[in-house]
Amino acid sequence: MSAPDRPAPDAAAPDSAAPDHRRWLQLTLDLAREAQQAGSAPVGAVLVDASGHEVARGRNRVGEAQTPEHVGKASVAHAEMDLYFSVGKLENPQSLTLYTSLEPCLMCGGASALLGVGRVVWVTDDPWGGSGRLIAWADHPAMQDTEVLPTPDPDLERQGALLFAPEARRAFPDEGWALWRKRYPTETADL
Ligand SMILES: [Zn+2]
Repeated sequence: MSAPDRPAPDAAAPDSAAPDHRRWLQLTLDLAREAQQAGSAPVGAVLVDASGHEVARGRNRVGEAQTPEHVGKASVAHAEMDLYFSVGKLENPQSLTLYTSLEPCLMCGGASALLGVGRVVWVTDDPWGGSGRLIAWADHPAMQDTEVLPTPDPDLERQGALLFAPEARRAFPDEGWALWRKRYPTETADL
C-alpha cells in the first residue's frame, strides 16, 4: 500500500528494479533481530555499492554500552548512525544504496542525504518516526541527489512491521501508536 505522494516502486528508474533489493532488505531484518536479542531496538541497516557488494552494516545499539567500535547507549545510536560511524569517509557515495529495516528517522535520513548517498530503500514504513514524509527530499537543495524507495517488498514489509510494532507501541505512545495502528492495522492488531 503506497501513499499517493510517494513514488511507486514501478515508477523508479529502470536500474532501480535490477538490484537484488530483497536479499539486502532481508539482511536488514536479520540485523534488526540481532539488535533485539542484544537488548536494543529491532532496526538494521546495510550499505551496498553499485556492484552489489556490501560496504558496511549497522544495527540499533540504544540498549547497549558504548564501545570503541560502536556507538551505543545514547538514544541516537540508530542502525544507520552505527553504520556511518563504522565505515568512515564514503567513497563515491552517489553510487551507494542504504538499505534499512525501518524508514529512517529525521537524523538518519538527514545524515544519508548530507553524505550524498544515492538511494535509500527501506523494508517498513515508520508512520511516526520516519523522515520520508518529514524531509522534502526532492525540494531541499541539499537532498536532491538521494532517491527514496519505500517498501518495495510487501512480504518483507509485513515481517518488518510485525518485528518493530512492539517497539513502536513502547516508544511511541498515544499519537505515534495510533499512526502505527492506522498504517499497519493487521500487524498491530494483537498488541
Ligand atoms: Zn534514525
